[in-house]
Amino acid sequence: MLYFVIVTTRCNLRCMYCGNDPSLLSEPPDLAYSVKDLRRFLEEDEDPIICFYGGEPLLALDVIEEVMDSIEARRWILQTNGLLLKRLRRRYLTMFDTILVSIDGRPEVTDYYRGRGVYEKVIENVKDIRSRGFRGDIIARMAVSGATDIYRDVVHLLELENPKFDHVHWQLDVLWDYPPYQRYTDFDSWVDNVYNPGISRLVNYWIDNMMDKGEVKGIVPFLGLMKHMLLRQKPRLHCGAGLDAFAIAPSGRIMACPVAYDVEELHLGHIKTTRPRELPGRVNISGPCPTCDLYWACGGRCLYANKTMLWGLEGFCKVCKTVRHLVSELLRVKPIVEMLIRRHIVELDQLIYPKYNNSTEIIP
Ligand code: SF4
Ligand code: SF4
Repeated sequence: MLYFVIVTTRCNLRCMYCGNDPSLLSEPPDLAYSVKDLRRFLEEDEDPIICFYGGEPLLALDVIEEVMDSIEARRWILQTNGLLLKRLRRRYLTMFDTILVSIDGRPEVTDYYRGRGVYEKVIENVKDIRSRGFRGDIIARMAVSGATDIYRDVVHLLELENPKFDHVHWQLDVLWDYPPYQRYTDFDSWVDNVYNPGISRLVNYWIDNMMDKGEVKGIVPFLGLMKHMLLRQKPRLHCGAGLDAFAIAPSGRIMACPVAYDVEELHLGHIKTTRPRELPGRVNISGPCPTCDLYWACGGRCLYANKTMLWGLEGFCKVCKTVRHLVSELLRVKPIVEMLIRRHIVELDQLIYPKYNNSTEIIP
């Protein structure tokens, strides 16, 4: 199973859309359990995948190194804002399978959301980890909000040559906080006139690259959903929260999702008293999702949003319009993808991504 190990809630940035304020959390900012406790807990999982998460996890580099020295994991993942990557020593750097680096697209968009100079610093640090021998999957992880042009920002990141991002993933800045729509001038119009048309353009770009060059661009939401469709997988909450993905807060509390500090229903135990096998399937998607006509593809999108309904049902359903459009656009091009596979212009294996739960939530 996948475990988000939250090694600190502290962060060295204050991004515009982020609700992370360690002083407001009912959690200590740093680890209040020992790495031995974590090892004892994880020993009962034969195949743990560990994703270091924060705050900014590289602010607790000593903890990361201690965990990597003393625990056997099938895969190591890091989700970072990228500013401190140079501190990660080569011996640990090369143990990671996947590094997700927060960057929101073009320089002006990234710096607008995340702070002046952030884009440049992140790019420099990603170049540095490549030059120090990191050969794993580097995912540019975007937050998408009112100033984003999804087509231009995703294509910008995908077409960078140095450094090269293997994949681009994004999460919409929606349903995270109250009051709703704070960072949008007119959310309905943004969805209808900016975001959804941008998705259509991006789907065309994705398909054109397959047809013209046999190249499958690493657009994670497209890949994850197309995989789901091609393999006719069962409906599933793609992020796996509460199913095969759990988060361990600095106190040792286990949560179904790494941002669910304030949702009692998603608190599932403590690493000192709960066993991994007791965790899966205790919380389920509810509300409008299980009877929704898109459930087969969407799986409920986000357990946290499903339980908190911070924008009310009306706001929740507005976000579903983005899912509906994404699914219908991918269904539109699915016959083309199948034809390209039949003709060996692309191989099925190129479309099977992610190969395991690598902490990308798939549905933005
Ligand atoms: S589209 Fe909306 S209502 Fe339907 S399953 Fe997804 S999140 Fe739930
Ligand atoms: S998609 Fe939602 S439920 Fe899943 S990990 Fe992210 S915030 Fe948590």
